[in-house]
Amino acid sequence: MVHCPICGSENGSFATVCVSCKGFLRAKIENLDLFATVWMIVESPSAAFLKIVLSKHKNYVVLLSALFGIAVTYEFFWFMRWGNSSVNLFSLLAGGLVAGPFVGIIFLGAISLFLVQIGPKSVWKNTLAVVAYAGTPVIFSLVFIFPVEIAVFGGYFFGSNPPPVVLDPVAYYTLRTISALVGLWAVFLVGLAISVLKELPIRRGVLYSLIMFAGIVGSLVAIRSF
Ligand SMILES: [Zn+2]
Repeated sequence: MVHCPICGSENGSFATVCVSCKGFLRAKIENLDLFATVWMIVESPSAAFLKIVLSKHKNYVVLLSALFGIAVTYEFFWFMRWGNSSVNLFSLLAGGLVAGPFVGIIFLGAISLFLVQIGPKSVWKNTLAVVAYAGTPVIFSLVFIFPVEIAVFGGYFFGSNPPPVVLDPVAYYTLRTISALVGLWAVFLVGLAISVLKELPIRRGVLYSLIMFAGIVGSLVAIRSF
């Protein structure tokens, strides 16, 4: 709830104009600046998600979804150990670059559709926008950690013959632990985004996010074991 500073009326949290006196409740946000918003996600994520919800245009959502998709596609190749087949490193890297953007847009679009339905309903466009920005840590790992993994392990990173952990255990566990923590950070951010978007307690939003991602990871484990 936001109280109007002019007449004192109660307004919805995302209102920009007062329902009774038509006074402005806050400055209009027309556009999102990519780097300023991403930095805000790191520094004060709740404020960043509120800004994203309030912004008229949801800039960079397609770009962020595409980069997120490339990152999760490489993680998927690693998880499925696709480096074991006759596919070489170049094909895997190129395949991720080409398929990743579509994977990201479809994946984030789908989980946003799901999240719209959980708890109080939210607008899909807003849901997709906060989720795409919440995936920022995964993009950090694509830019900063993944190249190191490829530099250290080459094509062996994606396989198990020999397992990359045998080649350099310290590097492997260090890099994979950082990636896992970055993934958890993104899961937490999605939860925080849901709580801001749907005006729920943070723990509720985080719980929804944890359940959803546990379901996704569980499905992947089931698929791999076939
Ligand atoms: Zn008012």
